[in-house]
Amino acid sequence: MSDARNGSLDGRTDADPLPTISVVDPRDGTPVGTLPCAAPAQVRAAITAALSSARTWSRTEPERRGALLHEAADAVEQHAEELAELTTRETGKLADDALGGVRAGVGTLRQYAELGPVHRGHSLRGGVLAADWTVPEPRGLVVALTPWNDPIAVAAGLLGAALVTGNTVIHKPSERCPHVGRRLGEVLAGVLPEGVLTTLVGGPDVGRALSSSPDVDVIAHVGSSATGHAIARAAAETGAHVVRENGGNDPLVIDDDVDPTWAAAQAALGAFANAGQICTSVERIYVHQAIAAPFLTALTEEAARRDRDGALAPLVDRRLRRAVHEQVTQALEAGAVALTGAVVPEGPGAAYPATVLRDCTAEMTVMREETFGPVAPVQIVESFAEGLRRAGEGRYGLAATVLTGRLAHTQQALADLSVGTLKVNNVFGGAPGGSAQPRGDSGDGFGYGPELLDEMTRVKVVHVEMPAG
Ligand code: NAD
Repeated sequence: MSDARNGSLDGRTDADPLPTISVVDPRDGTPVGTLPCAAPAQVRAAITAALSSARTWSRTEPERRGALLHEAADAVEQHAEELAELTTRETGKLADDALGGVRAGVGTLRQYAELGPVHRGHSLRGGVLAADWTVPEPRGLVVALTPWNDPIAVAAGLLGAALVTGNTVIHKPSERCPHVGRRLGEVLAGVLPEGVLTTLVGGPDVGRALSSSPDVDVIAHVGSSATGHAIARAAAETGAHVVRENGGNDPLVIDDDVDPTWAAAQAALGAFANAGQICTSVERIYVHQAIAAPFLTALTEEAARRDRDGALAPLVDRRLRRAVHEQVTQALEAGAVALTGAVVPEGPGAAYPATVLRDCTAEMTVMREETFGPVAPVQIVESFAEGLRRAGEGRYGLAATVLTGRLAHTQQALADLSVGTLKVNNVFGGAPGGSAQPRGDSGDGFGYGPELLDEMTRVKVVHVEMPAG
């Protein structure tokens, strides 16, 4: 039986005082606010509410659920400025970027509002008078565990797909942006029937209580690989279906036939957007020796410009800053050279400069692990083939980018790289509504796009024949 059902969260019982989460603004260290974490009784109540509203919600006409999701999108749109401002205060995301994330979330809710009612099964003829058809059904109770780096956009996808297919949902937003998560929950709950969506504030202990509950049918986790593995282990006990969209260590491979200044702009965008706090950020760079010198000069200039122009968000908190700086320091000790950045700034907040490291090697943590900071570690390679070989190393398999004008090199990358997404000549390319299957330690299943509707449902096969005579 789960912790939550036993009335404890990691040993915490209803009799214990509620722990709280305090958030400070990563831009200047000023307090944002303090919220109490969900008590064991609230976790139990959320599960009970989700179970008791499940039957009615699953039998609500798909078209009606789609209409309600459109209303939910309207409500989020009406609160877009407020949600974006909260996102900036809790995570440090630049204002435009934060608003873009909320608008992306609205768009995703609308996509699922339209796709949900036309989500369908298949049919198969077994004989002249025999046919099989498949009917999708909701899986039941979905727990969505979401991160802080794009809180509204990510949550909107999981919640939209789960709700429109007739599941009831408990959402546990990141403990690094609990005010954003709670406010989103209030806005959505104002539109949806009672019990269909509950938002719980809390840390990993609340996530663990939910993901170990035998009443939960799907755990949809977007977050770190370590957490994803822990959730997969918990779900192995309960039998819940798991969707994991986890960390990455995405390589960028640069061929000798591209413009080095353009390649540097691509590398800077990939490594420094949202201060490198994007799952598909460029995490390591392999540049062909023929263009390495002008590339490094242009990348260093791009990095310095971003610092100068205030175009760089801070890191989410000092805990992450310590981890990023530790990787950079280790690399410098092991022989890397900092062309810019690599120094923790004075003053309040959690800023970290755009950092370019050259002479990096495969042994360095900054090349092997996800850094999640504004760091561009570069290794110069003798050929595109060597770059591809190095890009293929490691335990992650989220995405990779190649910059090349040669079709044969693109085909080679497609054949050699074991990743969910291969991007050719654009570090953040991709159609809206697209989705991919991460590999290795980067996760499992479709966390986005129309395919997420399949993850949130299971099909029943109906086999029909004529009665005798
Ligand atoms: P995280 O895994 O620490 O937290 C995500 C959620 O899981 C939070 O709500 C957290 O409280 C909960 N959680 C933590 N430990 C848990 C446990 N043991 N059991 C159940 N729930 C638990 O991740 P984070 O630090 O918030 O987010 C950053 C990570 O997310 C990065 O690795 C990034 O690459 C990844 N990410 C991936 C994608 C993607 O689509 N692949 C998108 C965004 C972020």
